[in-house]
Amino acid sequence: MKIQAGHKQKISSNGNLLKPNTKTDSLKSNGVLKKTVWEYSKSIEDSKHIKLKSEYDLFIGGKWIKTKKYFETINPSNEEVIAKVAYASNEDVNKAVNAAEKAYDKVWSKISAKERGKYIFRIARILQEKAREFAVIESMDGGKPIKESKSVDIPLALAHFFYYAGWADKLELAFPGRKVSPIGVAGQIIPWNFPLLMAAWKIAPALACGNTVVIKSAETTPLTLYKLAEVIEEAELPEGVVNIISGDGATGAAIVNHPKTKKIAFTGSTEVGKLIMKQTAGTDKKLTLELGGKAANIIFEDAPIDAAIEGIINGIYFNQGHVCCAGSRLLVQESIKDIVIKKLRYRLKSLRVGDPLDKNTDVGSINSIMQLDRIKELVKSGINEGAKIYQSECSLPQRGYWFRPTFFSDVAQSHRIANEEIFGPVLSILTFRTPAEAIEKANNTFYGLSAGVWTDKGSKIFKTLSKLRAGVIWSNTFNKFNPASPFGGYKESGFGREGGRHGLEAYVK
Ligand code: ADP
Repeated sequence: MKIQAGHKQKISSNGNLLKPNTKTDSLKSNGVLKKTVWEYSKSIEDSKHIKLKSEYDLFIGGKWIKTKKYFETINPSNEEVIAKVAYASNEDVNKAVNAAEKAYDKVWSKISAKERGKYIFRIARILQEKAREFAVIESMDGGKPIKESKSVDIPLALAHFFYYAGWADKLELAFPGRKVSPIGVAGQIIPWNFPLLMAAWKIAPALACGNTVVIKSAETTPLTLYKLAEVIEEAELPEGVVNIISGDGATGAAIVNHPKTKKIAFTGSTEVGKLIMKQTAGTDKKLTLELGGKAANIIFEDAPIDAAIEGIINGIYFNQGHVCCAGSRLLVQESIKDIVIKKLRYRLKSLRVGDPLDKNTDVGSINSIMQLDRIKELVKSGINEGAKIYQSECSLPQRGYWFRPTFFSDVAQSHRIANEEIFGPVLSILTFRTPAEAIEKANNTFYGLSAGVWTDKGSKIFKTLSKLRAGVIWSNTFNKFNPASPFGGYKESGFGREGGRHGLEAYVK
């Protein structure tokens, strides 16, 4: 495949050597330098050091427990089976919750806060030592580019453990004038887009506040959670404090409906979030939901355009667009629409799509065939409803699940692609004329998770973001995360905050 990278340089991303093409890299007779053709060499992350079992049992009460049913987890970039993992039945969920309750009553609620902190620090340090192994496995199981798992997922996950380890013995500072206590067993359900990171967001504050945990991974990405179980064993956490299981929606529902889970933390689709809300209504369970999004990324005409282009790219193509806070609705001021689209088209040509373990890869594989079908269906609706599609021309690997980086221009607010979460590398571009119109359009969504504002005027940033109804708003950047910073949404994006001091609130009473 031929893709453009850098100024006037044709680049092949077929995985061969990165070298100037000497045939073309020469002076023409009139003295003008011919275009240099560069080819990328593959730079595959070494995966020999990773340790994976062929089969993973459930991690309950500090032991590996066999069950009746197992299912396969595959590598979405080549469709090969990586391992088999246990499918937790209602009976298994019951075992896990009982183990967590026992650990809560007998040990975790009794030991000092300082001791709790030490255990969490230990998890963070061991994770740090194994960061490279975790990054490779996360990319194999989920399809994300290794450069992202290495520089975002794993460092942020362990930073969350470090951060909340620090809070464990300082809760009186987090809640001045209040004597807080833990809730008991926390049931936690996570999605497939950031497996280890979502687990860290949930486990670290729960433990810091003195709760015990039953956590379930998503169907397609169970492996790094079981690797985390090995870290927890190595850290010698008292048995039953963290129980890790895998399964599907029925397993998740069993956690939600178990009478002994006192707090439910869910990250996933709005549809399932609504179901969980109904199921927990009228119970004594505390609930936080982090659901879908359709974030507006607003580019004003006075924005630094080249920086904004990078922000748009990062906003929507990071992790193949499998990001609940992705900047999936670009709102661009009409006066700069043409230049923004021109630059975006150019930039798309240099996005390298391919093997997630190749360090050159910018966009990896789609997480599952189900997700690929969903993306295709929504893209088809965009075309049928009259939006104008542009796709990167890169060629795609033969096997696995892939989707070209795509954007739509001429999108109307009524189009499905302007309203529904695509959760793929697909951007919808809308325009506005005045700041008031930008704000109105940005807020014209069922969701309210995140937003972005690009302008060179500080006052405009503050004025705009004070009127945006979104939990997280970035200005002149996008998709930046920090354990000290709370994250969460409004409206159909859910409620409650994870991260920061605010993230502790959900785990105390
Ligand atoms: P997606 O459609 O992106 O997979 P889901 O909301 O279906 O998002 O899944 C997110 C997580 O919720 C997964 O771990 C999944 O197994 C779990 N889940 C699905 N259905 C339910 C349910 N009814 N109750 C609890 N958890 C569920």
